[in-house]
Amino acid sequence: MPARGPVVVGIDIGGTKTAAAVVRPDGSLAHRAETPTPAQAGPQIVLDTAAALVATIAERTGITPDAFGVGSAGAFDEHGVVVHSTDHLAGWSGTDVAGGLRSRLGAPVVVVNDVHAAATGERTTSGLERFLFVAVGTGIGGAVVADGMVLLGASGMAGSVGHVRIPSARHRVCSCGGADHVEAFASGPGIELTYAEFTGRARDLRSIGRLAAEGDVIAAQVIRVAAEDLGESLASAVVTVDPGTVLLGGGVSGLGALFIDPLAERLRASLRPPFADVRVAAARSGPDAALIGAGRLAFESLPATEADGSPARS
Ligand SMILES: [Zn+2]
Repeated sequence: MPARGPVVVGIDIGGTKTAAAVVRPDGSLAHRAETPTPAQAGPQIVLDTAAALVATIAERTGITPDAFGVGSAGAFDEHGVVVHSTDHLAGWSGTDVAGGLRSRLGAPVVVVNDVHAAATGERTTSGLERFLFVAVGTGIGGAVVADGMVLLGASGMAGSVGHVRIPSARHRVCSCGGADHVEAFASGPGIELTYAEFTGRARDLRSIGRLAAEGDVIAAQVIRVAAEDLGESLASAVVTVDPGTVLLGGGVSGLGALFIDPLAERLRASLRPPFADVRVAAARSGPDAALIGAGRLAFESLPATEADGSPARS
């Protein structure tokens, strides 16, 4: 690795915490730091907090970043302005995140949706140039990676695979307001709700997973049905993008084979060749995927150099 090259910092602005780190060209992180996000304090305070976090890292390490990459909740236009957002960050819609951070940080800033950033992180870690990324956690997000690029989409939210209706009407409202979207069933809160409906007992995802692993039939069945619902609903995305691989990230995917195996089985059973050969695997970048991907996008925003390891683009 060259001794000198551009220095980039990735920033992940989430609903609960903001994290930042120096991101190396291979996707490894250095000098990671995080702080609570003042989510209800308004967008300018959120940006101030992110800038202060970066300043802390810069002071501690003596680095001068050449560019910043940011992943955050919401849909962004190509200028890094929030065009659509949920309530996780109060007043976030309409915020010029790229411009606001550029003026605070004094270097170029690229901003993308956090799931799109995480998919870019997976691209960096896995080396895959083509896959469907599905993040299954508190919600279900997704991203399409095609020919090494994350598809942005007309509204900035391409790959939102959690917001399709499952076939059987079960009258559950999705976080987006839609009826019977798969997110309402296969996300962490969805699985917890189904478990509570079946047993009359409230348990968190982690303990449902532990019960299932210990042989509890109901817990295992609740996870299996959620996984199958998601597997079936991903079939149309697979035939549309022909990704070859589906990478599953997020806390629910952390249940491992209990969740991933029935999902893969149902997905493949819903498809015909050549799509039925689609590979389903756990994502590998972990909770810092968005940070890694944001840094990667910052590298790619710089003029192509020998040092950043990215292919030259014309
Ligand atoms: Zn929805």
